[in-house]
Amino acid sequence: MGPMGRHHGSRKWQRPPRPLNTASHPRPEHKRDGQHVVRTVPAGRALKVYTCPGCLHPIQPGTPHVVAWPHEPSMFSRSPVEERRHWHTGCWRSRP
Ligand SMILES: [Zn+2]
Repeated sequence: MGPMGRHHGSRKWQRPPRPLNTASHPRPEHKRDGQHVVRTVPAGRALKVYTCPGCLHPIQPGTPHVVAWPHEPSMFSRSPVEERRHWHTGCWRSRP
């Protein structure tokens, strides 16, 4: 019956509020062929036409979409940046 009780983590940490604009923040995503890094491209940043490797249709300028690249570059490229691909958001999500 000593004063040595367990401290329960009742103290709440004040988390800093998350900025709403997390559009350009890369996030990891796991797909069947490995770990990828994915970044959302908002409409205002989509200035060119890209071909989506998921459906082989163009991603028109002004369309919010995602850009993804492998977390580990393949042996054929020096940098994962070279392997960036632009995807329709839905095509990327439906990737296994
Ligand atoms: Zn697509």
